[in-house]
Amino acid sequence: MSKLIVANWKMNGSKSFIDFYFNSFEKQQTNQVIFCPPFPYLDLINNYLKVTNFALGAQDCHSHDSGAFTGNVSAVILAEMGCRYVILGHSERRQHHFESNELVRWKSEAALKAGLTPIICVGESLEDRQSKKHLEVVKKQLEKSLPASLEKCVIAYEPVWAIGTGLTATTDDINEMHQMIADFISQRASILYGGSVTADNAKEILSQRNVGGVLVGGASLKPDVFTKVCQAAI
Ligand code: PEP
Repeated sequence: MSKLIVANWKMNGSKSFIDFYFNSFEKQQTNQVIFCPPFPYLDLINNYLKVTNFALGAQDCHSHDSGAFTGNVSAVILAEMGCRYVILGHSERRQHHFESNELVRWKSEAALKAGLTPIICVGESLEDRQSKKHLEVVKKQLEKSLPASLEKCVIAYEPVWAIGTGLTATTDDINEMHQMIADFISQRASILYGGSVTADNAKEILSQRNVGGVLVGGASLKPDVFTKVCQAAI
C-alpha cells in the first residue's frame, strides 16, 4: 500500500536552495510525498510539484478563517495557495508557542473546513517515557486534540525525545504506540511516525504494520537522502 512521506522543512530554505533541491530530488516516486516549507516558499515550491504523487503542505494554520490576527495564516489562504495538507500541533509549536490540545483541535477543524488534510502531531517527552506514562500522555493528547471527524485526518506520532536528536524509537516502541492510537481512533486515520527518520532506518520503520508513512525533519533537507527515504517504502 502507498505510504505518505512528509517533509517538514521547519524554518529552513532559500530560493537558491529550492532550485538546487528540486534539480537533485528524484521526481519519480511511487509514494505520496508532501513538502511542507515555510509559508513564503509555498508558491515557489508548488511550481516544482506539478508531478503526480507530490503535494504541498504547510507547517501551521490559524483557527479562524480571516480577521485581525497579525502574522498568522489561515487554512483558507493555504488552500488557495495550493496546499492540501497542514501539520498541526507539532511539538515545537506546542513547546515554543504554548499551543494547547484544544487549540490544535480548533486548528484541525478549521483545516478540515477549508478542505485541507490536517496532520495532527502527538508524542511524549523523555520524562513521560521514563516514568512509563507515554501511552497515557499520548492518549490524553488524542482525546483533546482530535476533531470529531477523523476520516480526512492523518495522525503523526512523534516522540519529542526523538525529534532532531538522532535518537529513534525502537520498532517495539513504535508498534506499541501505533497500536494504541489505531485502537483509539478505530483505524479511521493513517498514522505516521516521526523522529530522526533517515535513509538507514526508514525501510524498517515503514514496514511496521500500523505505520502509514513518516514525517521527516532534518533528513528531508538533503535531496539525496530524502529520495532514499521516499524510495524505502517501495
Ligand atoms: C520533525 O520535525 O517532525 C522531525 C521528526 O524532525 P527530525 O526528522 O529531524 O527528527
